[in-house]
Amino acid sequence: MKRIFVFAVVWLMSMTCCGCGKESPQKFQSTDVAMGTVIQQVLYTASNDGGTNEIRRILQELETQLLSRRQETSEVYAVNRAAGAEEGVRLSPQFSGLVADCLKMWRQSGGSFDIAMGEAVALWDIDGWSAAENQTAFVLPDEKSLEDALERCGSEKLRLEDGTLFIPEGVQIDLGAVGKGVAMDEILAYLREEKTITGATISLGGSVLTYGEKPDKTPWRIGVRNPADTSAYVGILSLEGAWCVSTSGDYERYVEFNGVRYHHILDPATGWPADSGTAGVTILSESGFLSDALSTACFVLGSERGIPLAEHYGAEALFIEKDGSLKMSEGMKRYFRQEE
Ligand code: AMP
Ligand code: MG
Repeated sequence: MKRIFVFAVVWLMSMTCCGCGKESPQKFQSTDVAMGTVIQQVLYTASNDGGTNEIRRILQELETQLLSRRQETSEVYAVNRAAGAEEGVRLSPQFSGLVADCLKMWRQSGGSFDIAMGEAVALWDIDGWSAAENQTAFVLPDEKSLEDALERCGSEKLRLEDGTLFIPEGVQIDLGAVGKGVAMDEILAYLREEKTITGATISLGGSVLTYGEKPDKTPWRIGVRNPADTSAYVGILSLEGAWCVSTSGDYERYVEFNGVRYHHILDPATGWPADSGTAGVTILSESGFLSDALSTACFVLGSERGIPLAEHYGAEALFIEKDGSLKMSEGMKRYFRQEE
């Protein structure tokens, strides 16, 4: 509660408005918390209220109606509660489409991207890591518990039939790997509809969307963080118009135990944090869902198998390997410039 209040205050204080010509777009900025992460909005708009409130509302609604694992109002919650129900659970058209897309990505990625990993995610307590006291209390899961959890994981256990999802008892879904992507798609739809907004960048945790143009018409510049030194960038993406950029990295969320770091992206084949030689992968796509889902899938797959998968979906991929080398799809070279 206190944290939300602090962010609300920061947001009010940081909401700035510059430029004074009636027709010229004004710059609105806000920083607050939604979907368990920090959201930073920069909007260029001729409208008076800026649109930041509307975007905040979109994010809240997505969380409460679709994606939250804890709120009883969400469809993810309804699915997990219905695990084992013979009649399955009826999904809204939007959620049914999302689950179908996730199952397709699961197949295309050879099972590396898997929304039916809820039991393994819960065993590792990934959602609890951010609290400092949980970092010190963390105990490594033992092999037996991991094996048991893995038996209750896997999208092959899900069945989607005409908008009804059948999920066996004990299996749980977790859409943490695509939530920000779905949010980017919804925000983009709003921006396209709301004609007064001429340019925007919105960052949601590890994802950034760009839209339209800056008043000075220069490209949007998105920094790609260096996993070995997260205060520095390995390079910059120069983008014009609407793009979704998602990054999955071993430095984004992790816990330390006996001096070893364990990060938040699990290899469905083992239940352990994925270890494909990649430290971070950034995906560029016109679709938020694809950029977010592919960043997770590619992190698990590694560059050799990940680059063809991204290209299959018409997306571009940039891998930063643990040894510091960069690997990227041919098309990514048009947008990415390495820092000198
Ligand atoms: P991201 O940061 O977008 O790569 O998403 C990581 C989040 O997705 C984790 O915090 C888990 O909630 C969940 N997750 C972890 N491993 C996987 C996986 N292999 N496939 C799908 N979701 C995963
Ligand atoms: Mg992702």
